[in-house]
Amino acid sequence: MKQFLNFIGGEFVATGRTFDNRAPVDDRVLGQVHEAGAAEVDAAVRAARAALDGEWGRMPVARRVELLHAVADEINRRFDDFLQAEMADTGKPHALASHVDIPRGAANFKVFADMVKNVPTESFEMTTPDGGQALNYALRSPVGVIGVVCPWNLPLLLMTWKVGPALACGNTVVVKPSEETPATATLLGEVMNAVGIPPGVYNVVHGFGPGSAGEYLTRHAGVNAITFTGETRTGEAIMAAAAQGVRPVSFELGGKNAGIVFADADFEQAVAGITRSAFENCGQVCLGTERVYVERPIFERFVSALKAKAEALKPGPSEDPGVGIGPLISREHQQKVLGYYDKAVKDGATVVTGGGVPKMAGALAEGHWVQPTIWTGLPESAAVIREEIFGPCCHIAPFDSEDEAIALANATDYGLATTVWTRDLGRAHRVARRVEVGICWINSWFLRDLRTPFGGAKASGIGREGGVHSLEFYTELRNVCVKL
Ligand code: NAD
Repeated sequence: MKQFLNFIGGEFVATGRTFDNRAPVDDRVLGQVHEAGAAEVDAAVRAARAALDGEWGRMPVARRVELLHAVADEINRRFDDFLQAEMADTGKPHALASHVDIPRGAANFKVFADMVKNVPTESFEMTTPDGGQALNYALRSPVGVIGVVCPWNLPLLLMTWKVGPALACGNTVVVKPSEETPATATLLGEVMNAVGIPPGVYNVVHGFGPGSAGEYLTRHAGVNAITFTGETRTGEAIMAAAAQGVRPVSFELGGKNAGIVFADADFEQAVAGITRSAFENCGQVCLGTERVYVERPIFERFVSALKAKAEALKPGPSEDPGVGIGPLISREHQQKVLGYYDKAVKDGATVVTGGGVPKMAGALAEGHWVQPTIWTGLPESAAVIREEIFGPCCHIAPFDSEDEAIALANATDYGLATTVWTRDLGRAHRVARRVEVGICWINSWFLRDLRTPFGGAKASGIGREGGVHSLEFYTELRNVCVKL
């Protein structure tokens, strides 16, 4: 049976306290994860500090950049190992893992390594009170040991999205991957050793949140800053932990994203786009669309077209050719999503399609499957319109004006992403300016340029990562003033 070990100071560490890692497609046990206790978390933080005070801390930027390129190259060389590990852990379709998760996992190291090479800092000459001169310039230093707490939906991609810039800026990291998806973070330890990243620069501790590795890490006084992606409620707990020592946080949290489809949109493009944004990764994407607002003249036609697309998504295991949708991550999450499916019916929804569990043959019947589901007819106060479900489902409602669509899209505590579908350029820009979100896609979804700011407004996050914006969190900006 596979053993998922912690990675501390360049060595794989067993703890003997294990829990099962299960495959979402059929619930079989894939391996044993070794849970880190307070002692292992402490050892990982100490190893990270020692690396900062040692070779890594003294390494010239050019060498750091070279090593991070080597990390990306080694991920690409072992592409299939990462692909198999990610597919086993998440059950996601091969096409998605091979086109998005793993390539982005590698790219995250190159993009940020190149960025630190090229970003200048400011300088100001000044006249001093005695008529002399002084020169001010800014320096960026690493913040220190960064605690990185990750979710399970895009395990390698979202983890390296933080580890890439953190290391590029000269920090060291202790990563706490999701308890559901330990595999690729562990594998990355092998990559770090293979390319010669000094021991202690990248550490991994496995376990859960409260009373386990997540809480021990975020409460550890040796962690200088915490970057977290996950649920808003977990963010609140981590923020409380970070308050001890007034440590900075960067949060990418939940969403309840709206898609706005105007009657003048390219109809087929809009249907294809909302199909992806509602159902891709079995709806387990923070940027996904769970609320769709469609201008009344095309409402009925849009609902029928999306229904046809949802029903054409074939559920199946990752390697099955033609598979359109994988399972949810866990039995617990499946029960949560099905609970929302029941709630929608109780609240009086019209179930356009789905609402249950698809029939799967043989061992797959044990997997965490749910049907892609579409509702109409609910009031905006309904739970499935207010709360993040994180499943392959959406509610579709009609609207009559641009103002109404914007008001509906903004009527949520969250503010992560919106998609707008229209051929009217002026309207596209007007709506983009007024929706209260961190990212607004026009006639597209999940089109990512890694140089752009990424993050959420309102309860969807704190801070922005991506491109030079990552420098704000991962470096300490200092002023040096030289009296000449
Ligand atoms: P989660 O909050 O349950 O768990 C995320 C991580 O936090 C896990 O590693 C978990 O073990 C850890 N954790 C839980 N409680 C903790 C605590 N008290 N202290 C320290 N660590 C703790 O999230 P999830 O279910 O893994 O992921 C789904 C959520 O992530 C959704 O809400 C989704 O919207 C969000 N998400 C957001 C983004 C974004 O960029 N905004 C991206 C992906 C996912």
